[in-house]
Amino acid sequence: MTDIIIIGAGAAGMTAALYSLRAGKSVTIIEAESIGGQIANSPRVENFPGFSSISGLELADKMFEQVNALGAALEIDRVVGVEKHSEKHFTVKTEYGAYECGSVIIAGGVKHRRLNVPGEDKFLGKGVYYCAVCDGAFYKDKEVILVGDANSALQYALLLSNYCSKVSMVTMFDKLFGDNCLQQAVRSRENVEIISGFVASSVMGDGAFEGVEFVRTGGTEKMTLKAEALFVAIGQIPDNKAFTPLVTLDKSGFIECTDDCRTSASGVFAAGDCRVKSVRQLTTAVADGAVAALAAAAYLDGE
Ligand SMILES: Cc1cc2nc3c(=O)[nH]c(=O)nc-3n(C[C@H](O)[C@H](O)[C@H](O)COP(=O)(O)OP(=O)(O)OC[C@H]3O[C@@H](n4cnc5c(N)ncnc54)[C@H](O)[C@@H]3O)c2cc1C
Repeated sequence: MTDIIIIGAGAAGMTAALYSLRAGKSVTIIEAESIGGQIANSPRVENFPGFSSISGLELADKMFEQVNALGAALEIDRVVGVEKHSEKHFTVKTEYGAYECGSVIIAGGVKHRRLNVPGEDKFLGKGVYYCAVCDGAFYKDKEVILVGDANSALQYALLLSNYCSKVSMVTMFDKLFGDNCLQQAVRSRENVEIISGFVASSVMGDGAFEGVEFVRTGGTEKMTLKAEALFVAIGQIPDNKAFTPLVTLDKSGFIECTDDCRTSASGVFAAGDCRVKSVRQLTTAVADGAVAALAAAAYLDGE
């Protein structure tokens, strides 16, 4: 029986493994896809302390090397459920097996909602981005397209307009959603053009990203915008259904927990982007990983 099972080998999960191992606990990380989670898709990370510039993949590799050297076990498998038998006794069920443990840390992250149009995958990280905080600064003095119409898109518009020469913000309907003060702030930026009533139909480019083709919402009129990059802010999707009803989710599907990452089920902790929080970044994910691991170790030690 493992002391702590960590679900997800992203930044939060690997930091949770680091702190759990250093607290003397045995650890198994179960990862459904590949090491690193979302950050492995980022060609350049420039806001993680200690590295002025590093590729997301290299950073993820370094995190994994560190926990691997300390003795973390890794299983590539998808967790499909967690069952609590009693305090300090859980079964984590996966597609291919089941694992017994004393405590569980859920660090399953989120996925950015995609446009699901041709060309989007091809230019992922090379012209198509889902995180303006992470990648906006790479487009200083360049023209960019932003797709989205609610709070995160409005925040992206403000952020991008600080760096970029022009932000073409394309919205699906004829209005913006989100906070009034954000809407007003965006409308007051001279370098933000709001183009209403279009949906993206394809991302253009042969070798390199060239722009986006749109079609009128509910119509046939076409529009082409050329730019250096596309930022997509149409929401993030958590995938926490496998952990219900054991843990409580908010109405958007994020795991509710306390400041020390305790969920509604004792012995189950949540770390990183999968939980209710206001800032979803590497630094906040690793912070959660540390907090959740120390809380899990204390739970196992009966503190
Ligand atoms: C393209 C891109 C660029 C970014 N750039 C930056 C940046 O420059 N700076 C920054 O601070 N932040 C950046 N971010 C945000 C940052 O990557 C995230 O905030 C952070 O990685 C979240 O880490 P996490 O461990 O919580 O989740 P994730 O990184 O999402 O990791 C979760 C892991 O859990 C696995 N998983 C999910 N469900 C299951 C399951 N049921 N069973 C097993 N495994 C499961 C997933 O496969 C995934 O590997 C970027 C994000 C993206 C997408």
